[in-house]
Amino acid sequence: MSDRYARQILFHGIGSLGQRLLMDKSVVLAGCGALGCTSANLLIRSGIKHLKIIDRDYIEETNLQRQVLFDEEDIKKNLPKAVAAQRKLQKIDSDARIEPVIGDLNPSTIESLLSDADIVIDGTDNFETRFLINDYCVKNEIPWIYGACIGALGLVMDIVPPKTPCLRCVLEDMPPFGTTETCDTAGIIAPIASIIASIQVTEALKILTNNLDELSKGLLKIDVWRNEIKRLHVENISKKLDCAACKQQRYEFLAKDKYSMETSLCGRNAVQILHPDGSRLDLAKLAGRLEKIGNISFNSFLLRLKVGKYELTVFPDGRSIISGTNDILIAKGLYAKYIGM
Ligand SMILES: [Zn+2]
Repeated sequence: MSDRYARQILFHGIGSLGQRLLMDKSVVLAGCGALGCTSANLLIRSGIKHLKIIDRDYIEETNLQRQVLFDEEDIKKNLPKAVAAQRKLQKIDSDARIEPVIGDLNPSTIESLLSDADIVIDGTDNFETRFLINDYCVKNEIPWIYGACIGALGLVMDIVPPKTPCLRCVLEDMPPFGTTETCDTAGIIAPIASIIASIQVTEALKILTNNLDELSKGLLKIDVWRNEIKRLHVENISKKLDCAACKQQRYEFLAKDKYSMETSLCGRNAVQILHPDGSRLDLAKLAGRLEKIGNISFNSFLLRLKVGKYELTVFPDGRSIISGTNDILIAKGLYAKYIGM
């Protein structure tokens, strides 16, 4: 083994055996925003050699304040987050196998995306996807590390099925749409994302090196502005509750009919529309068809069409993110008109 990991191997919790374990494990990062960027950076530097980065979005200027893997060049190049992240990380470790997935994590895709994961790191920004990950990981006994942050407040929890409570034990059901604040409505400062992601990766390192006695217990809540750290002791909650997922094995979020093809991306003034069969689109051909309609730009990852106040970003799998509206009907209308079903 090279000198690269010498300082980490010296650390009592890792050692050379731990380092070898890390290098053999496969990590899936679900979402590459503020949490995901910091997690990915730490994971690759720690010696994770198999990393899959799933993200459905492209980079915007507002991301640069906290999404530490991205820069202005990436925006100019219209790069999806997963691809920009992979390019940066590959410069840190050219040997690592980093797989960018530009796509939506949903009941149709989750099996193919998570089945080879030794652990899943939560970098998502919404509860629908988190409960989906929770159902999949509980069912398949894959550990995952929940993380979330908003403002200066962050939450983190280890979920190691079947040993610990799961996310549904703690949160029971999905908060109704619009009732939870998002980064776009409450704002966020970068340090809290850095702190939460750092804890998520530390917990992942413990799990991957079999240091299970050292795991963080319960739900950790940190307010970095107020300098408050609280631990909510939920370790025994699953003994009290009849959890749908980990007690009754009712994995409702894995049911395909429960997932909507259209999702309003809360607080972002944009709607995502999935193509029913995810068929491959030829973006160059589509660009030719649309060039008279509005301002078009495209690369091999995405095509962007600006029409009036709307901007349609289309991916090769037919998925589209339509910004300029939160209204699903308007977005569906634009999709049908310009992309076609
Ligand atoms: Zn549960």
